[in-house]
Amino acid sequence: MHSDPTQFALTAPATLTEALTLLRDEPGTHTPIAGGTELMVAFNTGRLKQRSLLSIQHLSELRFIHADPGTIHIGANTTFTEIRRSQEIATDLPLLIQSASWTGTIANQNRATLGGNICNASPAADTPPALLAYGATVTLISSAGQRTLPYTGFHLGYKKTVLQPGELLHSVSIPRAFAGYRQSIRKVGTRNALAISKIALAALARLDGDIITDIRLGTASLTDRPVRCTAAETALLHQPINDDTIRRARAALATEAHPIDDIRSTARYRSAVAENLLEDFLRSLIR
Ligand SMILES: Cc1cc2nc3c(=O)[nH]c(=O)nc-3n(C[C@H](O)[C@H](O)[C@H](O)COP(=O)(O)OP(=O)(O)OC[C@H]3O[C@@H](n4cnc5c(N)ncnc54)[C@H](O)[C@@H]3O)c2cc1C
Repeated sequence: MHSDPTQFALTAPATLTEALTLLRDEPGTHTPIAGGTELMVAFNTGRLKQRSLLSIQHLSELRFIHADPGTIHIGANTTFTEIRRSQEIATDLPLLIQSASWTGTIANQNRATLGGNICNASPAADTPPALLAYGATVTLISSAGQRTLPYTGFHLGYKKTVLQPGELLHSVSIPRAFAGYRQSIRKVGTRNALAISKIALAALARLDGDIITDIRLGTASLTDRPVRCTAAETALLHQPINDDTIRRARAALATEAHPIDDIRSTARYRSAVAENLLEDFLRSLIR
């Protein structure tokens, strides 16, 4: 069933300051809308509960890619097409380019934003595994000021984030620190294209010979929110890659996998495939 447009209001403030002032003065009233590729699907199917939308898509203060020597800063309104076109991101953060290219169709990528992808807080979203593995931080902004926190703490549960009423995601910042790392990202879905992931794993490893000196594992759909697999990371750190290490890493991953059963897949399948993706990555390091 379609929604009745006359039941909805859309406000489009001219500046970020105006948007934040409105969010402060009318708390809990307005829902930000950026590219709208999540919210308009809900609107079209009559499921959009929020009646007052605050358009932020045109706010240039939230749309930028700044690369300084140590960090790449990406504004929340940056689209996946813009991410895919960035030479700095392609060079330093290839897993983010790959995940941006998986997100829906080209038409979708022209509108869909990085901020919308993570604020929507789906456990299956495509960019969180790479952002987790790369150790991203997020900057949140409100009329009271800004705060920056590790992205690992951003998701509190299914569709729940630390965003407070009146706050917007301003930007995502990622260190340019992974030049010597082996990098991999895999998404398992129903099809190769235009599929929401059943499970996804982004993996970074630094090696000294066959010893793992740093390991970073970000996942989607392994729990009710995107998470880093710290138990598996601990099992692998400072270990040589061999059958025994791989067995222990799989067992550690199993302890932190709490996937959901839903229409896309079963929890059992998700857990088994996550372990297989991890093993594939580890074996690729010594091939
Ligand atoms: C055909 C199609 C295919 C898709 N395929 C994929 C896919 O393969 N992988 C995938 O991950 N997603 C997919 N999506 C979902 C969607 O495109 C992405 O999640 C996209 O990144 C959402 O961004 P947006 O700007 O359109 O979000 P919007 O719909 O504008 O907003 C989404 C949510 O984020 C909030 N929000 C947005 N920006 C901010 C901000 N700056 N601060 C605070 N809150 C904010 C909104 O209030 C809303 O709750 C698909 C969607 C469609 C329609």
